[in-house]
Amino acid sequence: MILTTDKLTKKYKAQTAINHLNLSIEKGSLTALLGPNGAGKSTTMQLLIGLIQPTSGKISYQNQLKIGAVFQTSVLDDMLTVKENLQIRAEQYHNIAKTRVKELIDQLGLVSFSKQTYGNLSGGQKRRVDIARALLNEPEILFLDEPTTGLDIQTRANIWALLKDLQTKQNLTIVLTTHYLNEVDEADKIFIIDHGTLITQGSAQNIKQRFANNLLSVQLKSQKDLQAFDELEVSTFCKETNKITFSPESSQQAIHLLTKYQTYIQSFEFRLGTIDDAFMNLTGNEVR
Ligand code: ADP
Repeated sequence: MILTTDKLTKKYKAQTAINHLNLSIEKGSLTALLGPNGAGKSTTMQLLIGLIQPTSGKISYQNQLKIGAVFQTSVLDDMLTVKENLQIRAEQYHNIAKTRVKELIDQLGLVSFSKQTYGNLSGGQKRRVDIARALLNEPEILFLDEPTTGLDIQTRANIWALLKDLQTKQNLTIVLTTHYLNEVDEADKIFIIDHGTLITQGSAQNIKQRFANNLLSVQLKSQKDLQAFDELEVSTFCKETNKITFSPESSQQAIHLLTKYQTYIQSFEFRLGTIDDAFMNLTGNEVR
């Protein structure tokens, strides 16, 4: 493990923002801290980066770990160009190679707008530059607080693709926060947080398997066909609409059911369980 926390707790006066949080971050992983607004994601990030101190509990880092961080609000200068911003930041370190800024401009796809002022860039371009800035000192672990918030779906997907690329090609460990539940399928490991506590953890696949139901809904040709169905397989039947629903464990099982009963089925709808469903089942709430 590159980083672990043990009963990490942060209180603001009477308010407990983080409560006995135990996280283990694996080297080379892309880990997502997921939760609704106010869940405690930013507070966790700030604790992991060392910007604030825990009230109790502790964080253990791998020896001499080099950290990079992308914050919700950028630290770059709107009036300077992308290149100038990166050069100035690079000069603040002692040991950065002269070629590092150019290397990052190429690697992160900043070439076409490197001479534009940072303030005039689109949200997605700004985020790329923020990431480049955080990578100047070649960190082993990169923290990003809500890197995709405020971006459109396409741009969010591009940022994820960039992060995946950095993870696989450079073996960078990435820890990010997000409140977009449909985004985290790309992560290797997800920690779901609500009200400052860890609700569950695992891969998206694993969390969905445990806590989200797939839904197969079939419309019968005739109500009298109902007797052809095995009661054990059927989860509900609605008389008014002639609709039967199943909760198949997999797409394969849905295909099996559709094939088995195909002569009685007029139409059907199938939906794989999502992280949203899992969150709802775990907390009884939709994401706020
Ligand atoms: P998230 O990032 O998941 O939206 P935060 O970590 O920002 O959640 O906040 C968690 C809780 O801690 C919230 O209830 C928030 O109001 C509270 N909180 C965060 N920072 C402070 C602070 N500096 N002072 C007081 N309360 C805070």
